[in-house]
Amino acid sequence: MIDDAIRVLAGDCTVIADGTDREEYRGRVTTVVKPDNTVLVHDVDGYQPVAWLTRADSVSSASDPTDGFTLVARKDAQTLRIAAHDQDGFAHYPASAAGTPLGDCPDCGGALVRSSGVHCVDCDARYGVPSDATIRDDRCNCGLPRMRVERGLAFRVCIDRTCESLDAAVREAFDREWSCPTCDGDLRILRRGGLIAGCEHYPECDTGFRIPSGVIDGECGCGLPTFDTRSGTRCLDATCDRILEPALEAAGDD
Ligand SMILES: [Zn+2]
Ligand SMILES: [Zn+2]
Ligand SMILES: [Zn+2]
Ligand SMILES: [Zn+2]
Repeated sequence: MIDDAIRVLAGDCTVIADGTDREEYRGRVTTVVKPDNTVLVHDVDGYQPVAWLTRADSVSSASDPTDGFTLVARKDAQTLRIAAHDQDGFAHYPASAAGTPLGDCPDCGGALVRSSGVHCVDCDARYGVPSDATIRDDRCNCGLPRMRVERGLAFRVCIDRTCESLDAAVREAFDREWSCPTCDGDLRILRRGGLIAGCEHYPECDTGFRIPSGVIDGECGCGLPTFDTRSGTRCLDATCDRILEPALEAAGDD
């Protein structure tokens, strides 16, 4: 279900914006209040509101059948007051984030969209998706789309991590694949916020590298793999400066 709502208040209103300056307007306007408390007062002209308050600390509104509605929004020293002289509308509408359409939700038949993650516009289905993931046209057996994510290799997994786990796929490919450059340990694939290759001897050895978005295209002078990323080739160790040295010994037995 959709918890968020957009409030819409329409009518002949007096609008008073108080802050460093005081502005007063009168007109037949439509006010939109977003779930994050952003208040936008629109008249007939252009895309820009006549008055607004972005992410107000508080917004209170009330509708009176005889007097019409009032709204007060406050943020720090700024106040936006709206009072209707003649009320045309006062309503709440369900609202979600809008995103790129991805086809039907297998749970409810509604529309799946991608904004920051992937969510259904009609039910509470919601999937965390890495920002660099590409959503594929092909679907998993569960009905959800698959995503393509580069973490050393290009992995194709379901967007539901409880269905097909990206972490498990990366672990299977690269766990203990690389040696710790600081001690004699192996690098394990772990999740600490993002996916990292971290030394098995943690906390005695705290060497760990976030696995970049890209595919492995060679070996760095330091012995760690290099990744072909959107911003060029880099070492698994983002601070490594031996990236341009050829890894002579490793080149032959690849
Ligand atoms: Zn749904
Ligand atoms: Zn699936
Ligand atoms: Zn180590
Ligand atoms: Zn390196």
